[in-house]
Amino acid sequence: MSDLSSKKTTKREFLKIFGLSSASLLASGSLADELLAEERSVSSIFGVTIPVVSMIRPNAFRSGRNHRFACTIVFPRGFEAAEVDVSSVRCEGARALGGTFHPNGRTIVLLCDSGDLRDDLPCGFSVPFTVTGQLSDGSTFRGSDTVAFINADQSIIYHTSTRRRKSCSACRGHAVNRIYSSRQAADVDRAHLGCNCRIVEEKIGWQDYLKAFWPRSRGDIVVHDRRWGWPPPSPVELNLEFPATLGEYLRRG
Ligand SMILES: [Zn+2]
Repeated sequence: MSDLSSKKTTKREFLKIFGLSSASLLASGSLADELLAEERSVSSIFGVTIPVVSMIRPNAFRSGRNHRFACTIVFPRGFEAAEVDVSSVRCEGARALGGTFHPNGRTIVLLCDSGDLRDDLPCGFSVPFTVTGQLSDGSTFRGSDTVAFINADQSIIYHTSTRRRKSCSACRGHAVNRIYSSRQAADVDRAHLGCNCRIVEEKIGWQDYLKAFWPRSRGDIVVHDRRWGWPPPSPVELNLEFPATLGEYLRRG
């Protein structure tokens, strides 16, 4: 454990290392207040756990591999992030390797390693990651974010195939362009009525899989057409990169 946990930065430095604009930081502060307002009344009744807003970046990783991730925790007004006992922090089994504070006093960014996550985490596009920890006075805090946790071995796509058979141009175009997340999805969306092309499976890169089938607001996505872009365009909500400057900063200390 390094002594990074006690490191203070200026606001300017913080924004630079985390690649945030002042506006987004202000937004996360006010969002935190909004989200916490309701829960606060609950916590004051029970007096046990302080609800915090947590944000995990990147918000997608491959299971079974080590990925560094940053967990940003925003405390409600009236609490000091400097009071966090960094050694007590756990995110689904992963400890914090180090951290840095935002000068607003209510925000701490912790560095974790996905290799330390508990073994029985499910895979999926929206896996809840809960962060817990203690303050120096013994009070506890808790917050959650969702992360896409992908098993590369299960990045299987389905598409029709026209190999070694006579087929119409509609079927050929369909076969090379349209990929599906399940055999059933491929079966119900054929090039034309009566198409009996074979359905085959293929493994693709887990990042391409994520981009192609990332759930949008209208629900699960089962089809991606390569004519929409290949590799698939990255959805705005998908954040695959660790904030590089933050990693450097944390290592340097
Ligand atoms: Zn066909």
